[in-house]
Amino acid sequence: MTLIDRFHRPLGSLRLSVTDRCNMRCGYCMPNENYAWLPRASILTFEELDRLAGIFAVLGAGKVRLTGGEPLLRHDLARLVRLLAARSAIDDLALTTNGILLGEQLGPLVDAGLRRVTISLDTLVPERLKAFARSDRHGAVLDGIDAALRSPLRSVKLNSVVIRGYNDDEVLDLLAFASERRLELRYIEYMDVGGATGWQANAVVPRAEILERVAARFGPVEALDDRGVAPAERFRLKDGTTFGIIASTTAPFCGSCDRSRVTADGTWFLCLYADHGIDLRAALRAGATDEAVAELVTRHWTNRIDRGAEDRAAMTGRGALYPIEGLRADPRREMHTRGG
Ligand code: SAM
Ligand code: SF4
Ligand code: SF4
Repeated sequence: MTLIDRFHRPLGSLRLSVTDRCNMRCGYCMPNENYAWLPRASILTFEELDRLAGIFAVLGAGKVRLTGGEPLLRHDLARLVRLLAARSAIDDLALTTNGILLGEQLGPLVDAGLRRVTISLDTLVPERLKAFARSDRHGAVLDGIDAALRSPLRSVKLNSVVIRGYNDDEVLDLLAFASERRLELRYIEYMDVGGATGWQANAVVPRAEILERVAARFGPVEALDDRGVAPAERFRLKDGTTFGIIASTTAPFCGSCDRSRVTADGTWFLCLYADHGIDLRAALRAGATDEAVAELVTRHWTNRIDRGAEDRAAMTGRGALYPIEGLRADPRREMHTRGG
């Protein structure tokens, strides 16, 4: 089944957030001291998450990515993976993680049916991770990457958010690190969403600059024309190394966006930048049938007109999307709640 929105975009993928908690405090996502968290009683059980994912999958979102917060903080995540992997309508099951707990949890996750993992790695310098993300677990992240490389996973990728003045001097080192391990690195432009309360346009390292720097060091960069609806544009170097750029800020790709996001409390967002979501938990817990929830999803998706990143890019004098007070008013505005 294919649901089409008002701009002819199909519903194709779901980012399912399993927790809003995290064991890092990345400066572009959780820079503050105090947070408003989702109330514990509102967090969906694995059975509820699985049921929602199943409804979305039947409506076309057969690609599911588990995220958070840090998804590996959710106790026994492998049990949810097993439930999702058993669904025939879900044909692609992936996980995005900061990697700290990956080394110790990967075995059960793979056994349960996980096939793809993306690990966030913004710096190769442990002291930088400590200063920027308030984590002294850089070694554990590298161990997680090694464990993923040794595992039977079908795909292991790295994500690096590039920020001027933090890690922009590591753009080439990160690519060399990935290339040596035959991993695909994806550079992500710094976005003004959620907790990025300190976002400034001049801290964004644009796609064009990343490409220039890569070409100056590694030689000609060939654009691969295989993007489809994926957020990353892919490129190849002469030695065969491939990498991607997710240029959400300077070259938004809303025109082909097939993504939905469900937070750990069952709030459904039709766009990363949307101010409000749709409360699916209320429907589930009020005893709605699968058909009734599917009807709700169908109604909202077929009316979808969101193009958040393009709207932001067209603004003059762009700053952070929310000030801190705006975030405290609704924890669902946070990136660590929406899942990135
Ligand atoms: N904790 C996991 C992790 O960091 O991989 C999963 C959740 S995290 C919210 C998902 C992705 O969002 C990460 O790759 C992170 O780097 C990215 N992200 C968070 N805030 C961002 C921002 N302001 N701009 C660009 N990417 C951001
Ligand atoms: Fe960093 Fe991910 Fe945690 Fe956000 S959710 S603070 S990006 S590790
Ligand atoms: Fe999709 Fe919204 Fe991101 Fe645009 S800003 S790509 S519509 S989620």
